[in-house]
Amino acid sequence: MRDFVFNSQPSRVVFGAGALAHLEREIDLLGARRALILSTPEQSHQAQMVAVRLGVRAAGIFPRAVMHVPIETAREARAEAHRLGADCAIAIGGGSTTGLGKAIAMDSGLPILAIPTTYAGSEMTPIYGITEAGLKKTGRDTRVLPRVVIYDPELTLTLPVNMSVTSAMNAIAHAAEGLYAQDSNPIMDLMAEEGIRALAQAIPALTKEPLSVGARGDALYGAWLCGSVLGNVGMALHHKLCHTLGGSFNLPHAEVHTVVLPQAMSFNATAAPLAMSRIERALGRDGQTSAAAGLFDLARDHGAPIALKDIGMLESDLDRAAEIAVSNPYWNPRQFGPGQLKDIRELLQRAYDGIRPD
Ligand code: NAD
Repeated sequence: MRDFVFNSQPSRVVFGAGALAHLEREIDLLGARRALILSTPEQSHQAQMVAVRLGVRAAGIFPRAVMHVPIETAREARAEAHRLGADCAIAIGGGSTTGLGKAIAMDSGLPILAIPTTYAGSEMTPIYGITEAGLKKTGRDTRVLPRVVIYDPELTLTLPVNMSVTSAMNAIAHAAEGLYAQDSNPIMDLMAEEGIRALAQAIPALTKEPLSVGARGDALYGAWLCGSVLGNVGMALHHKLCHTLGGSFNLPHAEVHTVVLPQAMSFNATAAPLAMSRIERALGRDGQTSAAAGLFDLARDHGAPIALKDIGMLESDLDRAAEIAVSNPYWNPRQFGPGQLKDIRELLQRAYDGIRPD
């Protein structure tokens, strides 16, 4: 028997190919009438498409979401929502756009309807991040959790294959760490294992056939499960390292997750054997390779980066990265803190060189 605490998150999920057709119904159910539509500049055509289908329900478009939610952008978007009299915001895009929606919701309480087009998972979490004066502040607040999430695989067909693979690895990372979280619970374990399984099958399928709605649907289903795990349980060493490398060295988000994940799993393998066997089973590799090696192969065999040196990291920065990571550690199944500086530095060296873990 296992003791646990489980909090269910109050969000509504509408999933399916063509599910965007339910947008009007979902806005009505929220009791909203005028939506501000958010997107990045690159996805402004998708925001425009949403505005056209909403007609009078569209208050306007704010197509200026960027990575890491700068506070200035959040303020501009809040002012625009106020000026237009918007009573809900629709975030169509990846984690950057959802993040902007969250920043608006945090201050205004405006309900957010998320339409994710990557596999990052932010739409299922109450975690926000805002960057002010070069520093990214993150936290948890239930007010920022999108009230409705519409998952429509057809909207992900345009996500380039290389980004699809790293984004899927990013999602897997949430589930992998969720499996050994200090506050894990049986429901999240089921979702984590199923999420990894769905994504591990979707990666080869969408690499082969990027326009397959079936493969995209499996990937998005996995992303929903893995995002839910991220929203419900605490993350550990892997996420700490990725936040350090992304935040202090400006490395690209999904690629960093892809490169670090096998190394972090290797570091934690002996301290979390049950989690590792569930990952191996989900990858379809039990009895063949370790979880760490299986994840490394999954990335490498589908063209994703496997070395920090290939995604903009300088070898001369590894010492500083290790020091930052151990100075304020997260809980982790295997102890890591200032006393483990040498081990973490070695882990980062292997990630830098792209060495396949055993
Ligand atoms: P992103 O949102 O930055 O998107 C990357 C690029 O891909 C953008 O130009 C975007 O417009 C484009 N794009 C997205 N979907 C597309 C599609 N279907 N077709 C074509 N182009 C598309 O990338 P991301 O990886 O989704 O999000 C990363 C950010 O999200 C990071 O800042 C990260 O910290 C944050 N994040 C937050 C949480 C959380 O719980 N708060 C969880 C995961 C990620």
